[in-house]
Amino acid sequence: MRSSEIIFTMVGILGLSAPQQGSPQTLAPPKRIVIAASTVLDGKGHVLRDTRIVVEGSKIVAIELNAVHPNNDAKAEPVDYDLRGLTVLPGWIDAHVHITWSFGPGGKNAGQGGTTPEAAYAAASNAWLTLLAGFTTVQSVGSPADIPLRDAIAKGLLPGPRILTAVEPIMGRGEQTGTPDEIRAFVRKQKAAGADLIKIYASGGMTRGTMTMSQEQLNVACDEAKKQGLRTLVHAFRDAVRAATLAGCTQVEHGLGASDDDLRLMAERGTYLDPQAGLLLETYLQYKDSYLAPPYYTEEGFAAMKELIPAHQEFIQRAVRIPGLKIVYGTDAVAGAHGRNAEDFIHRVREGGLDPMAAMGSANSLGAEALGMADQIGSIAPGLQADVIALDGDPLKDITAVLRVAFVMKGGVVYKNAAYGAIPVYARIRH
Ligand SMILES: [Zn+2]
Repeated sequence: MRSSEIIFTMVGILGLSAPQQGSPQTLAPPKRIVIAASTVLDGKGHVLRDTRIVVEGSKIVAIELNAVHPNNDAKAEPVDYDLRGLTVLPGWIDAHVHITWSFGPGGKNAGQGGTTPEAAYAAASNAWLTLLAGFTTVQSVGSPADIPLRDAIAKGLLPGPRILTAVEPIMGRGEQTGTPDEIRAFVRKQKAAGADLIKIYASGGMTRGTMTMSQEQLNVACDEAKKQGLRTLVHAFRDAVRAATLAGCTQVEHGLGASDDDLRLMAERGTYLDPQAGLLLETYLQYKDSYLAPPYYTEEGFAAMKELIPAHQEFIQRAVRIPGLKIVYGTDAVAGAHGRNAEDFIHRVREGGLDPMAAMGSANSLGAEALGMADQIGSIAPGLQADVIALDGDPLKDITAVLRVAFVMKGGVVYKNAAYGAIPVYARIRH
């Protein structure tokens, strides 16, 4: 870790939460914070030069541009955070993580549902590392263990990204998945348990990937979720991609094996695609000894993963050429990948052929749109949450800059403010 080189400014984490029960409502007006930036990627594909971002409380209240004030007189003063020389952008959104998934005692894969003190601390650590890596919102897909972590962070009791969770997923098991009524009841049960979305496993693993739910079962699951006001994320390979799209589900995870026709159908229907470009499989391979445990993680499975990395990258190369296809940023971060979420950007751009600006947008405005939160996060604009990060470098010119997150503000609170040049370039490059 590089913590010795980083100056953390934990400015009043508790200040974000609602007033303490019983305390008088005598809060002073929120303090105004001014951020100076020479280069801002606004999250929607625009580059703003020489701006001041004005924050009050948890929100951005103004963006002051040179163009608007050519004489420079009206610039917001005084500057609280001078981020000139860095690249400023909205906090990133990771649409697919497993935030509570960790390695347990002895270093073996402990999964994501652990209830021991070790598992709870590991989950809190995952959240902290993810936030420090510039991810201010994540969608965890999911585990019941996500809920106390999500709620503790939302109350300002722990530092971490905003968390949305699916709680328990629908596991496709053919006929045994359930009758239409049972599937609908399962969706409602997740909503009652506090789910922000529904996760559905509609096919097997990457290597086999046959459908584990029928078209009708998928139709029912996504229809009931829609009725409950919840989005649906579907783990799908091959035929399941088209089936999930036809069922009106919101987003397809992974997607390997989908044909160009399937991808065009997704574009037509506005179904989001969330492919992975390397971080996930690299993590499994890197921590093979921790994960190896038949029948789920086998030697054959690990051998196949090596070949699947280029297959995923070729898949992304195809996907980026489909007009109108909305590709979001989800890393599928498991144990060993938390805090490394930005590494997949590098794969998507270098091996997947994604334009760097589109890569940033996939984790900003497009990611926010996919979450139904475009009016709250994903852009640097007045009225939105003050989720602001800064990179030591320009990701449009050198995508590895995404690993050098020097500044992290979430909801107006600064969690990281590294001294200029403090993050060594070599230490974070694994490629
Ligand atoms: Zn996953």
